[in-house]
Amino acid sequence: MSRERGRPAPLTPSERVAAVPESGIRRFFELAAEMDDVVSLGVGEPDFAAPYRAREAAIDSLQRGKTSYTANRGMSPLRERIAAHIERYDLSYDPETEILVTAGASEAIDAAFRALVNPGDTVAVAQPSYVSYEPGVKFAGGEVLRVPTRADDEFVLTRERLAAAGAAEADLLVYCYPNNPTGATMDREELAEVAAFCRDNNLGVLADEIYAALTYEGEHTSIASLPGMRERTVVFNGFSKAYAMTGLRLGYALGPPDIIEAMNRVHQYTMLSAPTTAQYAAIEALDNCEDDVAEMCTQYDRRRNFVLSRLDEMGIDCFEATGAFYVFPEAPGGDADAFAEALLEDQQVAVVPGTAFGAGGEGHLRMSYASSLEDLRTAMNRIERFLA
Ligand code: PLP
Repeated sequence: MSRERGRPAPLTPSERVAAVPESGIRRFFELAAEMDDVVSLGVGEPDFAAPYRAREAAIDSLQRGKTSYTANRGMSPLRERIAAHIERYDLSYDPETEILVTAGASEAIDAAFRALVNPGDTVAVAQPSYVSYEPGVKFAGGEVLRVPTRADDEFVLTRERLAAAGAAEADLLVYCYPNNPTGATMDREELAEVAAFCRDNNLGVLADEIYAALTYEGEHTSIASLPGMRERTVVFNGFSKAYAMTGLRLGYALGPPDIIEAMNRVHQYTMLSAPTTAQYAAIEALDNCEDDVAEMCTQYDRRRNFVLSRLDEMGIDCFEATGAFYVFPEAPGGDADAFAEALLEDQQVAVVPGTAFGAGGEGHLRMSYASSLEDLRTAMNRIERFLA
């Protein structure tokens, strides 16, 4: 809108941005921040610090004065290590042309939407899901088609759910497994159905696999490793979750050369290069921190079992989450927002209502078990008291 046509002030948020609501998670945290003695199962980040050696590598790089930009696509030695690392998921990507290192997976997701979405294109978003996809699509000028998954299907995406939502008409599909917020994972057979649907209807796929390393039962499968999928898929991954490096802001995208080139076009003008210090930390993480990742996984798995068994004891229905660090139980009484607010006020336990994560989240609560066992024990005891 030009000023002549009545722009209210010289600085006015664009209609595109103004139309995107504030994150439902944030509102809840502001409430919790004003209270004392809150046990929070609300945050989606590891309670661990990054592995010691990775931190040392970051410090060492600073001491050596490595404070310049790197190549736009990320340092070559890092891209080479990423290429070697993802072979465990049967993925083979050329570090020169098919890998882009970004400021967190968040930047990779945003760059993918901007590189792939034309105004008016439709992006099917499997939900409940991580909160950034819908705004990302809208910032890029696309339309969102919500594809709900349900507790009855253990929150996996199925051909039927995709078809029922009208996803055959969409241009792209975005999802994350292991899933935030449900903790659901999808095995090879289940993914093969989704892959067939995407091939049959000529959809591109954006697969957010940032929790791949946090898979507690079976092995993580990447949809890009299935027949006919590599050329239509961009995979996102990163260091925030598996390596407890959220604040270092480092992620990456894998995809066909022309798409990585297009994403790099966005990245080189908006970010230039991912944080240099974090890239040094990531090289060390990939070279020498697998034991740390394994230890964190063991701890998460122990906590997962503890939380699931306590919820079961309390009679709260919850399907068995097998990945990431979330459980997604039903809210007793059915109204998740009311339950979460009352629980916070009455017992100072913060959980997030499932509605914050879109369609399919109604009547559920997201609880993160990336907290110490002691905090989890306190939280579960308080929930029990609240129910009594
Ligand atoms: N994708 C999912 C599914 C997430 O849960 C998150 C963070 O919570 C991100 C991406 C963002 O990750 P990063 O810290 O790498 O930007």
